[in-house]
Amino acid sequence: MVRTLPTSISHGRYWRVVLLLVVLIGGLVVYERQRHRAGPLTYRIGTVDPRFGMSREEFGEAVASAAVLWQQAASKPIFKADHAEGAMEINLIYDYRQEAADRLKTLGLKIENTKGSYDEMKARFESLKQDSDAQNAKLTQDFADYNARVVAFNGRATDARRQGGLDEAAAMRLESEQRLLGPQKEALVRRQEELKTTLETMKGLAAVINDFAANHNLDLVNYRDTGSQLGPEFSEGIFEQKGARRTITIYHFPSHDGLVRVLAHELGHAVGIGHLENPQAVMHRLMKTENPELTADDVAALKAKLRR
Ligand SMILES: [Zn+2]
Repeated sequence: MVRTLPTSISHGRYWRVVLLLVVLIGGLVVYERQRHRAGPLTYRIGTVDPRFGMSREEFGEAVASAAVLWQQAASKPIFKADHAEGAMEINLIYDYRQEAADRLKTLGLKIENTKGSYDEMKARFESLKQDSDAQNAKLTQDFADYNARVVAFNGRATDARRQGGLDEAAAMRLESEQRLLGPQKEALVRRQEELKTTLETMKGLAAVINDFAANHNLDLVNYRDTGSQLGPEFSEGIFEQKGARRTITIYHFPSHDGLVRVLAHELGHAVGIGHLENPQAVMHRLMKTENPELTADDVAALKAKLRR
């Protein structure tokens, strides 16, 4: 037996349920599509250290130029500036790398992609190394002398106490000796700090020289006598992803074109492209040229990523 409900009510309810289902399913489809669609990666400019002599706007423009390179290759937006809520932060951080490059400039050495520039930098590094080695040896000796004076002073003070005191002249001599020890120590610590600054400069210099050397298959310099080399680890920038947090940090760039190239390299990592073998490629692990143009290999790597 078929039970029928009053026609008017049944049809009205039926269409309402159908409509509700259509809206729900439609919404779900749109939501899922949105979720899987690789929309443009939003970014914002974070820290721009003023020591680079570059404004936030200028840095932002360099980032935009780097983004355009990939977008032209993809023929669609991949990156989008969103200065309020951008998902990826892009920073320009000043550390020993740029500091070394700047110091070289003040020493009258312009970092150029020439063998002559490399030879000059290397000569400067070697002379700084000789100076700092000599300073270090002298400082070690002076610290040893100071420590010997402290030991001698403590010995005399203990003897005096044991003997039940000193005559006035001897007590005064001991006191003035003690007064001198404080400033002597301060002077030594100051020299130690200065030496540390020189060593930091040398570390940066070595990094710049070795970066250049690695790019041109030249000899690396040893920063420490132990033979540790700061060559291939030197990098102008880095892309990092920790959980959902993505960051690009630029530490050093040789020129405006070089900056765009470094940014393009890191943006490439941000869309999941790894390093390429082609030494001319923007995605090569080393910056062999400052030319900010993508090679066919870069474009192919991007297209392969976008197809996934
Ligand atoms: Zn890289």
